[in-house]
Amino acid sequence: MSEARDLCECEMHGAQRETFVCAHIPPRIDHGVDCGFVCYPGPDDDGLTDAWCFDCEVFLNANGGEWTDEVKVPDGLSILCAQCYLRARKIADEHSRLRVN
Ligand SMILES: [Zn+2]
Ligand SMILES: [Zn+2]
Repeated sequence: MSEARDLCECEMHGAQRETFVCAHIPPRIDHGVDCGFVCYPGPDDDGLTDAWCFDCEVFLNANGGEWTDEVKVPDGLSILCAQCYLRARKIADEHSRLRVN
């Protein structure tokens, strides 16, 4: 079992590996992730890389195209459990709102 990730306690899924997404994604999951879902292809083989919405992507591209200590997700990151993360990504994919950088 991988110990690379901390566990979080999800109301729906119990103890799960935690993932980080911008604060705009979690409230939009039940709306088809209409804010968009952008993530890196790797390096994690579990695919649970940080993700952010299209608005944050616009901000990112206007500020050099890479998250750094100075260029941070505008409204911070939220923790999503791995199951919720995969659900959000799948929903975004189904609505053609998934973009892999
Ligand atoms: Zn965002
Ligand atoms: Zn969950």
